[in-house]
Amino acid sequence: MRKDWIAPGKTVGILGGGQLGRMMALAAREMGYRVAVLEPTPDSPCGQVADYQIESAYDDLKGAEKFVELCDVLTYEFENIDAETATWLEKQAYLPQGSDLLEITQNRIHEKQAIKSFQVPVVRYRALETQAELQKAREALGLPAVLKTTRGGYDGKGQQVIRTNNDIPVAWKEMEGKGPFVLESWVPFDKEISIVVTRSTTGEMTTFPIAENIHVNNVLHQSIVPARIPYEIEQQAVEIATHLAESFHLIGTLAVEMFVTDDNIVYVNELAPRPHNSGHYTMEACETSQFEQHIRAICGWPLGKTNLLKPAVMVNILGEHVDDVIKNLEGLPDGHVHLYGKKESRTGRKMGHITFLTDDVEQTLKEINQSGIWKLDEEE
Ligand code: AMP
Repeated sequence: MRKDWIAPGKTVGILGGGQLGRMMALAAREMGYRVAVLEPTPDSPCGQVADYQIESAYDDLKGAEKFVELCDVLTYEFENIDAETATWLEKQAYLPQGSDLLEITQNRIHEKQAIKSFQVPVVRYRALETQAELQKAREALGLPAVLKTTRGGYDGKGQQVIRTNNDIPVAWKEMEGKGPFVLESWVPFDKEISIVVTRSTTGEMTTFPIAENIHVNNVLHQSIVPARIPYEIEQQAVEIATHLAESFHLIGTLAVEMFVTDDNIVYVNELAPRPHNSGHYTMEACETSQFEQHIRAICGWPLGKTNLLKPAVMVNILGEHVDDVIKNLEGLPDGHVHLYGKKESRTGRKMGHITFLTDDVEQTLKEINQSGIWKLDEEE
């Protein structure tokens, strides 16, 4: 038996108890695994569907030791696990994904440097730490630009758009003390797209169909699949994703978010070394879901087929949408509702998503819009 084959009945350990962990856990259980989760918050979305939850901070060694004892293979559902813990886990247990890609994607500068080193285009940027360096970076890049923290930012948190010189002191005041930073040129993109690539412990690799993503207030609102992009862009995006996966010696899942400009230039914006919100549509619309594929990849299974069974529109359900979605199910096209079991519903918090399978994407988009649940015009 191959050493990287994790037989059903063994325990998959997930670091992090959020919705991505939950959906990974559900896939793992369907495949016959037991699931353990390490997560400080009791009764977490993942803990609710796991066999065991170790309630402990990620960097608490005692909790980590207990967790590792339970698990035959480890994975993570978010990238902000401190590097020391990840390295410790890699030594103590079987973490096929390793900790290198985790370390790189935790830091926007390392991420951009790595992508560039593989000859894949990223948006022009400057690394900086002081206000004087921000001025210099602004002169080099021009405006508009966006100032981002190097670490810990997600869903537009830790970002300030700078449109005019007057915005510089305002942005600095907001961000001071959170450095180091990166200043990026603002890309007047035509579309945002993403692609999820999976590579297994055996080196087998697949990509899922490309999603076209619409963000509202920097948070993913909607993914449309197939993305409404020319075939050449599609090919370019697949090439970029597979080239990055090979170059990083990926094991597991990598989501690659990209900007497409109206003159058809593709830039990589961000990487996530895990299943991704823009890949949730795969649960119903593809032959294999991104979560099952991830578990297959780390447990040494052959990968599943990734073909699209039907076009799909995935819409996120944030705190402000939950009640309306539940009350208006009859007024919406027939969709697959996923709720993550989070107790506290807050504005902007991802509480669930809904995926509509459709033969007429434009009509479905119209119907979603007409439901009035997602008040896009007001938010944008
Ligand atoms: P990020 O956290 O870097 O993925 O940024 C969140 C969202 O902000 C992206 O999905 C874009 O919609 C927008 N954004 C971030 N950086 C840029 C940029 N350089 N140019 C244009 N839009 C951006």
